[in-house]
Amino acid sequence: MSELPAQSLETPAPEMLTLALSKGRILKDTLPLLKAAGVELLEDPEKSRKLIFPTTHPQVQILILRASDVPPYVEHGAADLGVAGKDVLMEHGAHNVYELIDLQIARCRLMTAGKVGVPLPDRRLRIASKYVNLTRNYFASLGQQVDVIKLYGSMELAPLVGLSDLIVDVVDTGNTLRANGLEPRDEIVQVSSRLIVNQTSFKRKHALLQPLLQQLEQAVAHASSAL
Ligand code: AMP
Repeated sequence: MSELPAQSLETPAPEMLTLALSKGRILKDTLPLLKAAGVELLEDPEKSRKLIFPTTHPQVQILILRASDVPPYVEHGAADLGVAGKDVLMEHGAHNVYELIDLQIARCRLMTAGKVGVPLPDRRLRIASKYVNLTRNYFASLGQQVDVIKLYGSMELAPLVGLSDLIVDVVDTGNTLRANGLEPRDEIVQVSSRLIVNQTSFKRKHALLQPLLQQLEQAVAHASSAL
């Protein structure tokens, strides 16, 4: 009697959903929405060096990434879905993903800012930002050619030391600008976090995704009606 190959006796691995999040505001504000959808982390990522976290939902795992890495992970299908700010999505140019739900969390505004009371010079402007594409597109939409200087952090310093005339950054309370002698100037776009889904995952894992998406939508509606 020939034996069946061992593989056929095993139950197939359950299909998994991988969700990409980033630490800080997005994680803090996404967790209550996920909880309402039956997904809770088993460990606090803020207190761990791990990058992959199981959840109470046997088919959902969470990746903790840098905010700007969430779109490429979802775009390439390494994560099925993710939560990213509209600022990050606009900068990255979200390809191959559906932007399905405005989670209405981590709200802020993307703005230009400059030194308090200092008028702009009458020459081609220098703008410092980590949002180089967004900045170029914004000034191009105004018909202005500018030099964009890519920075990775502490943007507020640039106008103070003459590196740039303006910065483009997200502003919430405006306290960080004020503390550095800067003032908000023009609003470029209002920002909130969005749930994005890889287009192939959306089709292939529809049965697994659909209830989660519905529960998240309900949780968002409930949270905004409570405001
Ligand atoms: P603010 O409350 O304006 O002083 O914001 C403090 C800093 O937090 C800003 O310089 C931003 O870089 C950052 N920040 C504020 N809101 C957000 C947000 N929703 N998402 C990402 N970064 C933010």
